[in-house]
Amino acid sequence: MKNLLFKVISTGSKGNSYILEAENRTLLIEAGVKFKTLFPLLPIDKYPRYILISHKHGDHYKYISDYTYRGIKEIYGQTLIDGFEVKPFRLVHDIDCYGYYIRSDNHYLAYITDTFDVNIYFKQLNTLIIEASYDDDMIDNQYFNNQINLYLYRRIKENHLSTKKGLYYIKQQQNICPLDNIIFVHLSESRNAADKLIKMSSRITSANIYVAKPNEIIKLNII
Ligand SMILES: [Zn+2]
Repeated sequence: MKNLLFKVISTGSKGNSYILEAENRTLLIEAGVKFKTLFPLLPIDKYPRYILISHKHGDHYKYISDYTYRGIKEIYGQTLIDGFEVKPFRLVHDIDCYGYYIRSDNHYLAYITDTFDVNIYFKQLNTLIIEASYDDDMIDNQYFNNQINLYLYRRIKENHLSTKKGLYYIKQQQNICPLDNIIFVHLSESRNAADKLIKMSSRITSANIYVAKPNEIIKLNII
């Protein structure tokens, strides 16, 4: 079986960076950390040619010149066919933001982050990489206890995916195609809790569930 790895370099508002590594090719996702931060997890024999960008907020885009300077081309809302087949789709954020549907051999992935909602479904999908920015109860409690102001409360709720919306999406998507892996990304440290998220999601899916952590390497093609 061909290996397909998803490597988490960094996730969340401090900076997002991931490596998708197949048998003979590598694709970078997001430029939220410096190249030298990602370098130790980069396979030496499969230098990446492209970096996917969801949108141009700092935590996803701040270090893009660090990559383009090294000859790695930026893909922002474009189709790419280069071993991996990548198709963009629109998300709902306060600036133009794209998710990506990615095929690697016979494995299909969707990468979805920084969005108010998701309304695209896939006939074939093995791995769903999806934002779980905040837990609905936690953020409401913080607002009513005056721990966050109205501006921030509204900004998060109008631009990011909550656990509730993410799980609803997973349920709908699974009616079309059962999932092998779900990887939750972009969790807020103060507004979501990994253990609660895993507990809630394991009630609605039999897929392998991961909450992305820095330096984690996830093997995607374990059946
Ligand atoms: Zn953003």
